[in-house]
Amino acid sequence: MSVVADLTPTPAGPGVHVSKPSPHRPATASYACGCGETRQAQGDDQARDLVAAWTDHRNTCAGRKGRS
Ligand SMILES: [Zn+2]
Repeated sequence: MSVVADLTPTPAGPGVHVSKPSPHRPATASYACGCGETRQAQGDDQARDLVAAWTDHRNTCAGRKGRS
């Protein structure tokens, strides 16, 4: 397997990533937006919240360059 950190979004490569190594381990998630906003979370519930926050952020981000 490749290094998980390679998939971590950055402001230069915006997006959201959720990783769950195994059913017995908590999920980890991170997102980065082109505006520079980044956030990380650990835990299944927190990862779910992060994805929701990312979706909301994309809809409200003042730093967006246009609609996608
Ligand atoms: Zn943003």
